[in-house]
Amino acid sequence: MVDVSRKINPFEMAKKQIDIASEYLNAEPGLLERLKQTKREVIVHFPVKMDDGKVRIFTGYRVQHDVARGPAKGGIRYHPDVDLDEVRALAMWMTWKSAVVNIPFGGAKGGVQCNPKGMSPHEIENLTRRFTWEISFMLGPEQDIPAPDVYTNPQVMAWIMDTFSILKGYSVPGVVTGKPIELGGSLGRFEATGRGVVIASLEALKYLKKPVEGARTAIQGCGNVGGIAAKHFDRLGAKVIAISDSKGGLHNEKGLDVKRVLDCKSRYQCLICDKKQETEITNEELLELDCDILVPAALENQITEKNGPRIKARIIVEGANGPTTPGADEILNEKGVFIVPDILANAGGVTVSYFEWVQNLQELIWSEEEVLERLTRIMQRSFREVLEISLSKKIPTRTAALVLGIGRVVEAIKLRGIYP
Ligand code: NAD
Repeated sequence: MVDVSRKINPFEMAKKQIDIASEYLNAEPGLLERLKQTKREVIVHFPVKMDDGKVRIFTGYRVQHDVARGPAKGGIRYHPDVDLDEVRALAMWMTWKSAVVNIPFGGAKGGVQCNPKGMSPHEIENLTRRFTWEISFMLGPEQDIPAPDVYTNPQVMAWIMDTFSILKGYSVPGVVTGKPIELGGSLGRFEATGRGVVIASLEALKYLKKPVEGARTAIQGCGNVGGIAAKHFDRLGAKVIAISDSKGGLHNEKGLDVKRVLDCKSRYQCLICDKKQETEITNEELLELDCDILVPAALENQITEKNGPRIKARIIVEGANGPTTPGADEILNEKGVFIVPDILANAGGVTVSYFEWVQNLQELIWSEEEVLERLTRIMQRSFREVLEISLSKKIPTRTAALVLGIGRVVEAIKLRGIYP
């Protein structure tokens, strides 16, 4: 097979997924064609004053894919590789994800092409505030609600919320989720995606009749999703044998000292600088480790037709969005790998974002226990629904999740009707 991994365009991949699911959907082809497009796309080029006094121009995107089921919802990413097609794909996946967990949101995504690692906090603040101003006309608790994604965090959300509130003339906490708790953030939101990944993994293990204790787990990415997932896998007695960040990873067959490794990452922004009995491995090697659970929790296009045949994991739980290409899916399905697809596996984040939005609109504060209990219930129910479709229609779990998600969106569009 030809390796097309590096050339795979995530938006083409996302559209192909609609084609694959369409066979099992009772949907008018015209509607599916509409859903292969996005609803609204904004590209902004904007100046930012840097610390050396010079002005640099950045390009940012906000794309709303669909809002039939509710306001547009989706993160904002700061990364050098951000482009329009990536943001389009991520927005589309947000639409399906919200529908899979059955929360009343549509899908959106945003991003700025930049290298935040080479910028000071002051420069990132300037960039965030100006980008927010540029796209503010399309944001709002009833319209479009950003959240953190790769290389953005609660502080960035605080700047977005503050800038938007200044423009309105009053505080609007519900315009973003994933905010600091002090500004109306929800207890449990910071950990929600990683915890959701672990809840989905537990369901997969339960279905496959395997214990979590000792389950050998490899995690690509050590950020909000991968790092938190590692912490909770470790807490539950799984054996985290490898974890990585953008510079590479650590491996120890006997299990990593997860607490020490995560402490090192948060203290020095580096995984490997406090290396003890672990071996250094590349991100490519990590993906091919013999393990029970593999959690890709970094970027798209990591498991491809090229490395697919060498993947040895029994279960893949997709913390990242779009980590597996359709070509790799075919290989993994043939090998009998159990996949918990991204639009289910990492839906814990949008689920607790929804809780945060609900609390903001009603001016309520829920306890962490309440948030966790609701999150667990929704993740378990959604896992069951996807599995039932997969088993009854004899289709892969990814196709089943798409059938569930796209089906709910199509139903909403049908009920609303086509205007005029
Ligand atoms: P993050 O910025 O907190 O962490 C990203 C991690 O990926 C870092 O550890 C970084 O070092 C690593 N990384 C970056 N480039 C890499 C590369 N080329 N190879 C290996 N590792 C690399 O971001 P995050 O919020 O954890 O997001 C990770 C993934 O999860 C993304 O695909 C994101 O869209 C998805 N996701 C995030 C959330 C959320 O709530 N944050 C929700 C759903 C899905």
